[in-house]
Amino acid sequence: MAGKRERIAQLLDRTRVTDVLLALRARTPPAWLTILTYHRVGTPSADDPLPDETFDASDGLFAEQIRFLSERFNFVSTDEVVEFLHGRSLPPNPAMITFDDGYRECLTGALPILQDYGARATFFIATDYIEQRKLFWWDRIGLLVSRATNDPIVLDYPMPMRLPKAEAYKTLNGLVKSEVGLDLGRLMDHLEERSGASISSEEEQAMVDALIMTWDEIHQLSDAGMDIQSHTRSHRVLQTLLPEQLADELAGSRAVLEERMGLPVKTVAYPVGYRVNDAPSITRALDEAGYEAGYTNQTGPVPTWGSIDRFDVNRIAMSEIYQDAFFRSVMAFPPLAFG
Ligand SMILES: [Zn+2]
Repeated sequence: MAGKRERIAQLLDRTRVTDVLLALRARTPPAWLTILTYHRVGTPSADDPLPDETFDASDGLFAEQIRFLSERFNFVSTDEVVEFLHGRSLPPNPAMITFDDGYRECLTGALPILQDYGARATFFIATDYIEQRKLFWWDRIGLLVSRATNDPIVLDYPMPMRLPKAEAYKTLNGLVKSEVGLDLGRLMDHLEERSGASISSEEEQAMVDALIMTWDEIHQLSDAGMDIQSHTRSHRVLQTLLPEQLADELAGSRAVLEERMGLPVKTVAYPVGYRVNDAPSITRALDEAGYEAGYTNQTGPVPTWGSIDRFDVNRIAMSEIYQDAFFRSVMAFPPLAFG
């Protein structure tokens, strides 16, 4: 499938159809709103013990993507998307840049590039990690597994498991994303004990300060004209939460952000990004927490015709495949995107 889409993209680009499509669309009401999701920009260092899957583009690739967009698209803000969902129209060729989680590269890598091209972006922040200065759960799992002195790692919680060290990160990452009612703190303590690895609190503070923004740094993004919105408190998949946890994750993160930033928080990007339209308890909780819209991920472009579910706004997950002809063609013809 990827091969076929890439061949179509090459053809569109070589024949300049991408330019023609974008030029035409610049003069017509937008057919698609294209929202791109990033986490980190830059290049992981070879000796970093943390998983590198959160890097979505090198600095150079990100600059190239933003340069291309700045010449042909109108960057839209959180408010413009919320107003669009309430019936207002969007500018031609609308694109939205979003960053999830709260990694420091948002400030040190992405912001200077965004500013070079006059681009505005929205940053979704998982507030517990900023407040408590602790590693994101997936980075903590990755670090403990990479340092494990026991192989296999034998766990009893949440079920008996013998995990070969080489597979443990992937298995545990999947488990946290799918296990309903999981006590994440208990799993982390159990993994630390059974892996034989440890992280001292001084070491964790140093890593967190290098890895995750502080409130001061998030204020710098906001002062530069960027939007700051919610990515819940502890970055758990909404579908795995018990009702009281769900309410706390949604309302709690919104309250913390509004207090810390002094700005309204109207939207949330769902951790991991699964759709919620088949879960009325989740859409009800989103409404009760005061959100006007929610973003999924890996779900494709947003078609602007027909009705759009304001709690299932699609985004396209960026990665290194979005280079050159493929990136240009996806932006010209968004259904080519990989969700
Ligand atoms: Zn995230």
